[in-house]
Amino acid sequence: MAQELESRLWDVVVIGAGPAGSSAARAAAERGASVLLVDRARFPRYKTCGGGLIGLSIDQIPPPVLDTVEQQVLAARFSLRGRVPVTDRSRTPFLVLVQRERFDAALVAAAVEAGVAFRSGVAVRGIAEDEISGVTVTTDSGLLHARVVVGADGTSGRTGRYVGVLNRGTDLALELEIRRTPETDRFDGSVYLDWGSAPGSYGWVFPKRDVLTVGVIEARGRPDSTRQYLDSWVARLGLSGHEVERSSGHLTQWREPDSPLRRGSVVVAGDAAGLLDPWTREGISFALRSGTWAGRAAAESAGGGEGALDRYTDRVLNELEPDIRAGERMLRLFERRPGLVHAFLGYSGIGRRLFLDVCRGRKSIGGILAGRAARTALFLARQ
Ligand SMILES: Cc1cc2nc3c(=O)[nH]c(=O)nc-3n(C[C@H](O)[C@H](O)[C@H](O)COP(=O)(O)OP(=O)(O)OC[C@H]3O[C@@H](n4cnc5c(N)ncnc54)[C@H](O)[C@@H]3O)c2cc1C
Repeated sequence: MAQELESRLWDVVVIGAGPAGSSAARAAAERGASVLLVDRARFPRYKTCGGGLIGLSIDQIPPPVLDTVEQQVLAARFSLRGRVPVTDRSRTPFLVLVQRERFDAALVAAAVEAGVAFRSGVAVRGIAEDEISGVTVTTDSGLLHARVVVGADGTSGRTGRYVGVLNRGTDLALELEIRRTPETDRFDGSVYLDWGSAPGSYGWVFPKRDVLTVGVIEARGRPDSTRQYLDSWVARLGLSGHEVERSSGHLTQWREPDSPLRRGSVVVAGDAAGLLDPWTREGISFALRSGTWAGRAAAESAGGGEGALDRYTDRVLNELEPDIRAGERMLRLFERRPGLVHAFLGYSGIGRRLFLDVCRGRKSIGGILAGRAARTALFLARQ
């Protein structure tokens, strides 16, 4: 790493250049902070992900990043263990799909445009803090010094552990990028979700420009059976034998209520903070929002703003945590009564409307479940 990066005291160092980190870096730079963004991967880098952007995500991204959208989704097909398929349709798109390699690179480019210094291929090994030096970040290519650090290094990063984030649930997702052929055009313009046999599991097909992203997710702990689950899902789709461009796996995890988000001058955002919907495993909107708020708070704190980091943690706890708890209640119901959830989403007018509203970002699962009628329905459904 260049000497200049090491010797300098940065207002803000951001660790991890996914949606949380690049949003944090951009937001901090836009507020006048000197910002260094580092990632251990060489960019552009692949990220195992469906790449589904709901309305809440689209609202957060700078317009040029929208150029990376590869599919507009007008229909969602659901089935229950391959049976009773049903399709929800809309005249206007309610979800868009991206490939994370391009999407994340465009978010980084927007951060650089805002004045952020970006270094990829720099892996963080440790963090230490004291009153005289501020925060020292040890990397595989030298030491970095910052007034404030934003940890956005995802589920396998170091900053969550440093801050003491505790996670309540962890899932394993396996995904294939299957090269498109004329035969796969049948998936265009729609997403396909199949609720699986293991509690809380599901499989998906998200069509992109050059590939179909096909995956499954279930509770971590039985990797061989998760692999079999993926194989049988691909076979059921009639895609066995199609050319696989990439096969990968990744964990998703969500936080314990009130688990810390800050230690001293280090705050965490996105997956590093366990911010993810436990039922759908939608995490990009949480990463973009928490990252933006963390970056603003970091810039303010580095400039001497008292209490800025605490206001960040309060905002996450007030605005994002309720949705995570609501998603967890939905997951528990889905684990016990997948048929009921399937029927609600696929066959009831209210369920279809709510599904589309959540995808469009007009409603959140937390907002829906906060209503008395929904709470009563959820209670009765659990009996
Ligand atoms: C299979 C799968 C499908 C998903 N599908 C969707 C979906 O369709 N829609 C949705 O909204 N969400 C989805 N998610 C969740 C979504 O991918 C995450 O919530 C989102 O990527 C979180 O963004 P982030 O910026 O917090 O972390 P990440 O995107 O994971 O970025 C973290 C970055 O930190 C870097 N890093 C890690 N360790 C270090 C280190 N020590 N030093 C430096 N850098 C480091 C990594 O290289 C990485 O670039 C899915 C997740 C999985 C696993």
